[in-house]
Amino acid sequence: MKVELQNLTKIFPSRNKKSGEEVIAVNDFTFTIPDGKLVGLLGPSGCGKSTTLYMISGLQQPSSGRIFFGDEDVTDLSPENRGIGLVFQNYALYPHMTVKQNILFPLQNLKGKDKMTKQEMLDRALEAAKLVQIDELMDRKPSELSGGQQQRVAIARALVKMPRVLLLDEPLSNLDARLRLQTREEIRRIQKETGITTVFVTHDQEEAMSISDMIVVMKLGVVQQVGKPQEIYDDPTNLFVAKFLGTPPINVFRGKVVMDMLYIGEDPVMKIKGVEDKDVYVAVRPEGFELNPKGKFVCELSNVEVMGRDVSVVSRHEASINPVIRSIINADSGVDATATNVKFSLKPHKVFLFDTETEERIPFEVK
Ligand code: ADP
Ligand code: MG
Repeated sequence: MKVELQNLTKIFPSRNKKSGEEVIAVNDFTFTIPDGKLVGLLGPSGCGKSTTLYMISGLQQPSSGRIFFGDEDVTDLSPENRGIGLVFQNYALYPHMTVKQNILFPLQNLKGKDKMTKQEMLDRALEAAKLVQIDELMDRKPSELSGGQQQRVAIARALVKMPRVLLLDEPLSNLDARLRLQTREEIRRIQKETGITTVFVTHDQEEAMSISDMIVVMKLGVVQQVGKPQEIYDDPTNLFVAKFLGTPPINVFRGKVVMDMLYIGEDPVMKIKGVEDKDVYVAVRPEGFELNPKGKFVCELSNVEVMGRDVSVVSRHEASINPVIRSIINADSGVDATATNVKFSLKPHKVFLFDTETEERIPFEVK
């Protein structure tokens, strides 16, 4: 089921009556979620991810804009009539009911032609439980389950009505690191098996990158960029997006372009063309540095961290905006950890320039 968001906007009245400032939680969001895909909605806390999800679900009404499921305009439909499954961060299971009763619950309220026999309901509940691999736990209460198991029950409950669209709001945030990893792979598997169009909300860029077919990056209610995870990483549209994606984070420097030479601080690092003389932000991915005795980018070496296949070289430079520079270098390149300086050349496709005022990307060519 394709989901189409047209100019979705949500304005909340001020919580503080005196200041009177309304909050534009979501601002003119237009996007089509392709049928059967998993879309990650990514951004920092407060950027409007949940509000977007709740508008798709029908729990919140947009201030303006329309929502379509396929060709059907669902904007005025109640949540029950949209055919959605919702999963929240805090599981929200009924504590006095068993796993089986929790999963059955959404089916018991079906009316009219959708009404099911008891056996049909049990079969459906078991099918959903098997999909998330909790069919052995049907008679337990939520308090007798781990966090990861509880979240699986919540997913089974969301799937049991065979929703047209699955909506997940930070479903992994309450799980510990290992379970988070495992459960996100599970969610991806289930999504692929069922082919349900899914929106997955998270503030964790690694999580979004690892499971999404497409990512939507948001900031202050405004969509910044839409694309496949790798495309956004390789081709960020502005400094915010460049900084939000990637671990270790991208290294940002004060720099300038003078007569086709790109400088970081006062170091001439690369000959480029197509950019007029001006101050710029120079952003370099950690994997964009190469050790080079003739390299023109000279940094003060702080520390070399061994990571096995690679080493992480931690260094400093007066033009760096990040407290330290983190570069990832192949372990075979033999970093001298006792040296005071380290010299780098830069891989051009790992270097991005941004306008210092708008923070928009400045395209350039290598000379
Ligand atoms: P996210 O899920 O990305 O953390 P939200 O969608 O929850 O962000 O919130 C977006 C913005 O809208 C925030 O500034 C938040 O304070 C505000 N907001 C959310 N819900 C309400 C509400 N019911 N009333 C007023 N403001 C709200
Ligand atoms: Mg939220």
